[in-house]
Formats: sequence, C-alpha cells, structure tokens
Amino acid sequence: MADPQGFLKTRERELPARRPVPVRIKDWREVYEEQELGQLQRQAGRCMDCGIPFCHSGCPLGNLIPEWNDLAWRGDWRQAIERLHATNNFPEFTGRLCPAPCETACVLGINQPAVTIKQVEVTTIEKAFADGGVAPKPPERLSGKTVAVVGSGPAGLAAAQQLTRAGHTVAVYERADRPGGLLRYGIPEFKMEKSVLDRRLQQMQAEGTRFRNSVDVGVDVTWEQLRARYDAVVIAMGATVARDLPVDGREGDGVHQAMDYLPAANRVAIGESVDGQIHAQDKDVIVIGGGDTGADCIGTAHRQGARSVTSLEIMPQPGEERADAHPWPTYPMIYRVASAHEEGGERLYAVSTQEVQRDESGAVTGLRLHEVVRGESGFESVEGSERVLPAQLVLLAMGFLGPQTESLVTQLGVELDERSNVKRGQDYMSSVPGVFVAGDAGRGQSLIVWAIAEGRAAAHHVDAWLSGEPSRLPRPVNPTDRPLMV
Ligand SMILES: Cc1cc2nc3c(=O)[nH]c(=O)nc-3n(C[C@H](O)[C@H](O)[C@H](O)COP(=O)(O)OP(=O)(O)OC[C@H]3O[C@@H](n4cnc5c(N)ncnc54)[C@H](O)[C@@H]3O)c2cc1C
Ligand code: SF4
Repeated sequence: MADPQGFLKTRERELPARRPVPVRIKDWREVYEEQELGQLQRQAGRCMDCGIPFCHSGCPLGNLIPEWNDLAWRGDWRQAIERLHATNNFPEFTGRLCPAPCETACVLGINQPAVTIKQVEVTTIEKAFADGGVAPKPPERLSGKTVAVVGSGPAGLAAAQQLTRAGHTVAVYERADRPGGLLRYGIPEFKMEKSVLDRRLQQMQAEGTRFRNSVDVGVDVTWEQLRARYDAVVIAMGATVARDLPVDGREGDGVHQAMDYLPAANRVAIGESVDGQIHAQDKDVIVIGGGDTGADCIGTAHRQGARSVTSLEIMPQPGEERADAHPWPTYPMIYRVASAHEEGGERLYAVSTQEVQRDESGAVTGLRLHEVVRGESGFESVEGSERVLPAQLVLLAMGFLGPQTESLVTQLGVELDERSNVKRGQDYMSSVPGVFVAGDAGRGQSLIVWAIAEGRAAAHHVDAWLSGEPSRLPRPVNPTDRPLMV
C-alpha cells in the first residue's frame, strides 16, 4: 500500500483544471490542462489498497487499479505502465473518455470523494509515451494463421493488437478512409485529439497489424470471400443504426442524425475541407438526447458559433446525489456536467417533441414540444405545457439500435439476437464457425471500455480456436458479464 495515511492527509479530490470556456471554445484542442505531477501523486496516494478493491469489479477490463495507484504514488512509472497495459491496450482512450465506473465503485467514495483513478491512468500512459516506454511489441514468431477484423473502433483495434502479438497475421478492414471507428469520426477533438489515436496506430503498424481502409465489407468484398480468404473473422462493426424521431416534419431541411453532423466537424477540425458541411454557425440549435453523443453535438455547435444551443431529454433531471435505487458501488444515474455543458446552452428535462415545424421551403423553423411525466402506460404529456422552441438546426442523438447486419445475414447467414445484435456464445463465436464478434456489434451501443474488454476477450477465443490449444492471451470478460451495471 502506498501511504497508509494518504487518504487522511489528502482529503480533497483534485483534478486538472479545464481551460477557460471563452478560450477553449475558440479552438478544437483538448479541454483539460496538465496536472502538476506532485499533486497527481498525492491523489494516487489516497488509494487504500483495499482488501476487496471494488474498483476492480467496477471496471469491465478488471484494471489492476490499486497496484498502479501505488506505483504512481512512488513515481515508479515504468512498472506502473506495465501493470496498466497488462489489462488495457489503450489506457490513453479510456483515461480520457471513460465514464469511470471504477471511481463510482471506489471504497473511498463511501464517505469521501473517490480516488482520481482515471487521471492516474491517463497520466501514466502519457508519461510512458513521453519517456519512450511504449515500444512496438512484434511477435517472436508467426503462427501462419490469418485473421480479418472488420471494423477499426476500439473493439477491432484491441482484438487486432492482441492477435497480432500472439503471432497471427491480422488485417483490419474499415469502410472509412482512416481507422479508429467512433474514436476518429464520432468523438470530437476537444475530448480526444486524433494525434492520440494516430500515435497508437503507428505502434500497431510497427507490430505488423495491416490496415485496409475504404473497404466496405459486404459491398467491396463479400463476407463469404473474407471468410474463405482468412482462417478466422472478427466482426467489430459497431452499432451504427441510429434511432430516429418519428414525428411530423422529421423530413424537414435541417434535421440531421448526430453521426451525419459530427464526422464532418471532426474532419474540418483537423484541417480537411468538407463539401456541404452541416454547420451550426448563427443558428438556434436543438440537440435531442442527453447522452455522450448529445454532449458532443453541444460542444461542437458552440465551437462553430451557434446562436443558441438547447438540449432536450425525455427523462426527468437526475439528482446530484445517488438515489436509493443506485446504491454504492453501482454506477449511479446522477446529474453530470460534461465540459460541453459548462460551455453554455440550456438543458431541458422531461420534454418530448411533437412536431418539427417548417417554412414553405421545407426548412426547419422550430420544434413543438410538451412536458411529460411517467404514467402507468409510459410517458404522459402535461396539459397546457406545450410550447415552440425556435430552431434552424435539429440534431438527433437518441441512441443506436444495433449494427448494420443486412449483408452479414444474407451473405454469411449469421444469426441475430432478440435485440438485432450479432448473436454470440460465451466464446464470442457467432452462429458461423470461425466468425467471432466483439464490441457494440454484439453488445449493442455501449462504451469504449467495454469495446476494448470484448476485443481482448474475443482475441483470446480466436487464438484458442486457431491453435487448438488453450490461449496464452488473457480472457477478461464473458459477454454476459455486467460489472456493476454500466
Ligand atoms: C458521438 C459519440 C460519442 C461517444 N462518446 C463516448 C465517450 O465519451 N466514452 C465512451 O466510453 N463511449 C462513448 N461513445 C460510445 C463508444 O464510442 C462506442 O461504444 C465504441 O466506439 C464502440 O466500439 P466498437 O469498436 O464496437 O465500434 P465503433 O467504434 O462504432 O467502430 C466500428 C467501425 O466499423 C466500421 N464498419 C462498420 N461496418 C463495416 C463494414 N461493413 N465494413 C468495414 N467497416 C465497417 C465503422 O465504419 C466503424 O469504423 C460514444 C459514441 C458516440 C456515437
Ligand atoms: S476501491 Fe478505491 S481506495 Fe480501494 S483499492 Fe480501489 S481505488 Fe484504491
């Protein structure tokens, strides 16, 4: 244990400052400033090295948190990154983007603010990159087996890195022009700069992973061809079918899915030009949906110079403290203020859209909505609460229904589960032998940490299947595991 009295001596939880709002909304750079190292180490020293570390159970990756908290506190950064990489291929992604269920499960969180686990994580990996401690780890010998990974989001990348290191020859197929999945074209620069992703992709390339970009599997090459060409296939194609808004006027000019809006903004942020970009400048913007995707639309619209930004959420506003229904150590629904919310705009809760209003040319002019309460038969409207909000741009961020499976089903005959995700067994294999599935494609819309955990787990099973022996790769989670319900 680091400092037996650390949590008594350092009672405050301290995180790095966010850059001032008026400054940061003028650029696309990451929001957080660097934390002074001594302060971070004192924070790591608050960890109590619990006999039963609930942070472990909160983390889908089973990260060895007390171990690297201790090493960070001591300043043994070389050992700290080894322990961190032992369970997580990409701590620089989770250290920036994870909602940190480990922290809401932290034992210290029962009567003090939790240990700043995520910040220790991101500092450890950033120090490792800066000190040259993240070298490529190519395999010592090749197995002679080949694997195609379809989709280059965190699930595909984790599976590919594990399988390449195990000696298999891995090609990652991606329909976009560059790899990264939602890390590249969904999540904005201000949450994670793309140089962070590119740095890791360079390591993967140096290890031998091959990337085949701009190939839409099912169209440019069929799933059957891929299955015939490779010894195993991993489906890591995400859950990209977006939920729509079934109201009058939806087809109006100016109503867009978030994922039709964010990718172009991300391209422009890194200096590319995009024809016909959907842009928020000088517009009243309404974002429907209050999750991560909605917050990313809010932050992007502010940086583009929107006149006003309002976000709508059908659920009531959660409280600031844990409700009885979400006791420690589960992940609670509480009122959270992401950096994007801090930058302005209004958040409306318990409201539902009835109609998109348009002018004669079909352009959107506003949304008609009403307040709702939960009744016995679902949400019921509150009489007399109807109103119209002006809007020239409406962004739909209401979640995703599952993967785009048409060609998978017709060409390969994979079975789907009752939620339209690709069905898989405990060994991550789909109904087609040798075809595995990881991440949102099998799990449904989820989190980066889950995608990495599943990519690693699927790689374990692919390796065992290819070699006919127990795999030497770690097996972090079963598809049915749900550590503390995130
Ligand atoms: C806007 C947004 C913000 C988010 N923010 C966060 C956050 O802050 N923290 C967090 O934990 N989670 C966040 N999430 C969720 C998280 O990004 C996903 O859970 C995660 O990326 C899923 O990883 P994946 O590898 O399964 O799929 P994805 O990242 O979706 O990658 C799938 C890839 O497969 C490719 N593909 C699909 N079909 C084919 C095909 N036929 N041929 C070739 N390639 C194909 C796609 O182009 C895509 O690149 C966010 C999601 C969105 C939409
Ligand atoms: S639960 Fe919190 S205090 Fe306990 S070991 Fe994990 S991070 Fe440290």
